[in-house]
Amino acid sequence: MPERPFSHLSVYSVLPKNNCGRCQLPSCLAFAAAAASGQKPLADCPLLDSPTKERLAAALHGRPEQELYKFVNDLSELEEQIAGLDFTVIAPRIGGTVKDGRLLIPSFGKAFEIDRQGRMRSECHVMPWVQYPLLAYAASSQHQLPTGTWVSFRDLPGGLDVHNLFCKRCELVLKRLADAHPGLLHDLAELFQGTEAAGFAADTALILHPLPHFPILICWQAAEDGLESSLSILFDACCKVNLPVKAAFSLCIGLAQMFEKIALLHR
Ligand code: SF4
Repeated sequence: MPERPFSHLSVYSVLPKNNCGRCQLPSCLAFAAAAASGQKPLADCPLLDSPTKERLAAALHGRPEQELYKFVNDLSELEEQIAGLDFTVIAPRIGGTVKDGRLLIPSFGKAFEIDRQGRMRSECHVMPWVQYPLLAYAASSQHQLPTGTWVSFRDLPGGLDVHNLFCKRCELVLKRLADAHPGLLHDLAELFQGTEAAGFAADTALILHPLPHFPILICWQAAEDGLESSLSILFDACCKVNLPVKAAFSLCIGLAQMFEKIALLHR
């Protein structure tokens, strides 16, 4: 996988160039190289203003977003499948409801409505990374209730093929955020109606429901005694059935990017 195309000199050009060291690196050039390669979040330079951070983040993340959109451009097939569904039958099965002939599916505390043609609307902006998984979730021919057993991304059918990319684009992104802002995961979980999970050997263990029957568990362990920090995202075993792996991938990448943007904007 080639590295991000955005050059570290492009990052460097907008830095203050005073080598103050507040980013824990010896120079602005070192920070630019670390940020461009994804080793450091832009938020680690407190002297970058928010508009510049947003612009840089958009440039730095152009590549993963293109990867994401590559997966989500076959909505017409899903829309056709949706057109053949009886919403009153599938809604109770997948944790949704029906209102005025539309299928309502809750996601991150918001209701997303799907009409008979597979068109979607919500009180918030419908992003492609959430639209594709929601349609795929509704159109899935099989469905299981959550089991309470957690599996890794590589255990999902087809997950091994994109596991490395998943680690880099999702787990690593969230780990960097949690390392830099230890309370952030709790804040985000609260914002998106997550719950704390007990019984896990982690400083933070949170369960989120991107879809009603698609629980994910985020476990973060802070660095300690010379050991590096770690973060893993686990999936309830029902996720093996309830969503195709590319939809799960799209959902998690979008989630990581959304959390990263929120962290950047609220620093
Ligand atoms: S905190 Fe910002 S200005 Fe200071 S050295 Fe790091 S990149 Fe340069």
